[in-house]
Amino acid sequence: MSLDAQALSERLTRLHLTAIRDQLDSLLDEAVRRELNLRDAVALLCERELDRRNERRITMATKIAHFPYLRDLDGFDFAAQPSLDKKQVRELAACRWVANGDALLLLGPPGVGKTHLAIGLGLAAIGEGYSVLFVTAPALAASLAKAHAESRLEERLGFFTKPKLLIVDELGYLPFEPNAAHLFFQLVSRRYERGSLLITSNRSVGEWGTVFGDSVVATAILDRLLHHSQVITIRGDSYRLREKRRSGLIKSAPLAQGEPA
Ligand code: ADP
Ligand code: MG
Repeated sequence: MSLDAQALSERLTRLHLTAIRDQLDSLLDEAVRRELNLRDAVALLCERELDRRNERRITMATKIAHFPYLRDLDGFDFAAQPSLDKKQVRELAACRWVANGDALLLLGPPGVGKTHLAIGLGLAAIGEGYSVLFVTAPALAASLAKAHAESRLEERLGFFTKPKLLIVDELGYLPFEPNAAHLFFQLVSRRYERGSLLITSNRSVGEWGTVFGDSVVATAILDRLLHHSQVITIRGDSYRLREKRRSGLIKSAPLAQGEPA
């Protein structure tokens, strides 16, 4: 049986083997050039098809995650952030904590790279096959409060419980309304031991009573969050200001000791 190119292309389309279809000539050339036997040639075709599917899955999952921008861990300058253990971050990027449904708290002052790391770890989780959703704490609180007012809370809690990893950025920049704190508690309870939460905050855990406007709710939230968790506290100067200082835009702030001018 001999198929003309058009008929073969149609069959590959019907089988949804679009990577093989699109690269067929070059893949066959490659198989000949590498003198592959038939079995290895089929393996090569399968590998390229699977590569394309994985790329598509990552693209789609990255869109669904709603990151504010994309930053990966390779772009993180660990030398500029000595309070951070590079090895610990690399281990987190392997995502065992996500598989276990553990929590991760990234704490520290503004500009030290919390959001960058959260996005980098979110992308790493997508790479490992997990679903991820990124939301800021004020947006999450507003969304839950709105759903509550419209009697759609169950549906909304379900939406935020579904992703295997939920990243809640910037907890503590704005205090929660008392009602929002209760709604956040419900979400944390739902996700507890099911899915991971990554929370970034400029407030230490001891200040969360003020953040939530209710120390009883804050304790209940922390009780669940800290049960299976890692807490990373980043210290040091804002990376943004450091860059500005280096370029001479900010002259008043003294350079940290040992920092090259
Ligand atoms: P935070 O969330 O802690 O306020 P960000 O993650 O928003 O800080 O960091 C502020 C900016 O500085 C971002 O553009 C981020 O990519 C960059 N940044 C911060 N720390 C580092 C670092 N150690 N290496 C590279 N870029 C960094
Ligand atoms: Mg941030």
